[in-house]
Amino acid sequence: MTQPLWFDPTLCLIGGNWTPAASGDSLPLTNPSDGTEICRIPRGSGADIDAAVAAARTALKGDWGRKTALERGRILTRLGQLVLERVDDLARLEAMDVGKPLTQARADAIALARYCEFYGGAADKVMGETIPYLDGYTVYTLREPHGVTGHIVPWNYPMQIIGRSVGAALAMGNACVLKPAEEACLTALAFAHLAQQAGLPAGALNVVPGLGAEAGAALSGHPGVNHISFTGSVATGALVQQAAGRNVVPVTLELGGKSPQLVFDDADLDAALPFLVNAGIQNAGQTCSASSRILVQRGVYDQVKSRMAEAYEQLSVGPAMQDFRVGPLISDRQKQIVNSFLDKGADLIIAAEGTIAKDAPETGAYVRPTLFADVPPDHPLARDEIFGPVQVLIPFDTEEQALTIANSTDYGLVASVWTRDGARQMRLAKTLHSGQVFINNYGAGGGVELPFGGVGKSGHGREKGFEALYGFSQLKTVAAFHG
Ligand code: NAD
Repeated sequence: MTQPLWFDPTLCLIGGNWTPAASGDSLPLTNPSDGTEICRIPRGSGADIDAAVAAARTALKGDWGRKTALERGRILTRLGQLVLERVDDLARLEAMDVGKPLTQARADAIALARYCEFYGGAADKVMGETIPYLDGYTVYTLREPHGVTGHIVPWNYPMQIIGRSVGAALAMGNACVLKPAEEACLTALAFAHLAQQAGLPAGALNVVPGLGAEAGAALSGHPGVNHISFTGSVATGALVQQAAGRNVVPVTLELGGKSPQLVFDDADLDAALPFLVNAGIQNAGQTCSASSRILVQRGVYDQVKSRMAEAYEQLSVGPAMQDFRVGPLISDRQKQIVNSFLDKGADLIIAAEGTIAKDAPETGAYVRPTLFADVPPDHPLARDEIFGPVQVLIPFDTEEQALTIANSTDYGLVASVWTRDGARQMRLAKTLHSGQVFINNYGAGGGVELPFGGVGKSGHGREKGFEALYGFSQLKTVAAFHG
């Protein structure tokens, strides 16, 4: 084990009790920086999910279900404080487990605290409406929890994704069953320990690690679950939606993207440059809202290309604990996926590459960040989600052409526009096919307060901000006739 853990990672949390998987089986958890085994985690399966869903249902009927919105908010706020107290511990866990450079892992831990604070504060501020209706009626709406919510989380941002989905679900009074990714679940378990310390009643949060095809599939198809929140790949998202559909259960899907940044001739390039590069290489490009396509107007194309190339040449890749700018990918499997994309780019021009640190272990999942230039918009590298530190530069001449290229993939998660022309900013904000549009900035996943989610194959439903509270609740209309 790379570093001693402050909790037992071999146990699931079900109904307030830490317990091994019913099968007794476990899975290895690997440190992607050097390929060593960190520890074993439970291989949860259908029996554990059954127990977790039953525990969540019991919590809804008991102590948790009786909590007022104010009390739920106070627990979440306390949880946020406990997370803040352990930011460095959580960051080290995430760095070891995900391969995320320490500074980025620390930012994720702070974001987790911020989600708890935000949803803690918001819990008692979600209100219904009164609706003018027929004479003799009073009509109003109530926002009620779905009941048991399932949360299937990927490996790339465990803390942030748990914060935004479990935080909002608990704020609304749901009881949660969380299935972290098999590649990265230490911070999910740590978070559950902190939630207990914060006073979250037994069964309000249950955590069952395990394989997607086992624990994940059992959760998404469980008839006792009332809502599923899924973040991950398009293929798995479609499976989750099908499984939930058999029980007519609503699903929120957050499935990644191919997010463009549009840089016009009149852009403030000094302001844009750090965003252009960082949005592609943050978390080694394994970010659903990564900006992997940089569309640049011909007048500044050469300048942007040479300045981005300069930045890429400075990029050094190495172990997460040493806090290099870019860490390893999550796994050898992900490395193979990224390398197969790099092979597909053999016919393209490489503008620049980063370097892998000399002392980075050969057993780590490292790839060189790569910037491709003059990429045709229909090339696979310009259309498919790569999930690695790879960006493509695409030149354009007119605004119309830029918009056509930007809207030409199956995805639509985030887009940004770099221009000083206010009318163009407004036009593109409306016409870009995207769940979020940033003007003269780029927020890769940032902004706890900002509703987030995609169009097209980027998914549906919105997380984050107040919007998530509506997603994690259902509206009841009460029509009272009193004459
Ligand atoms: P995945 O979508 O298969 O896994 C995400 C989560 O879903 C994990 O918790 C996994 O255990 C679970 N899961 C897997 N199969 C399941 C099933 N049949 N039913 C229910 N849950 C299931 O992603 P992956 O295989 O880890 O990564 C593959 C690709 O997905 C990546 O290369 C990347 O392109 C993309 N991805 C996107 C995101 C994102 O944030 N949008 C996150 C991770 C991966």
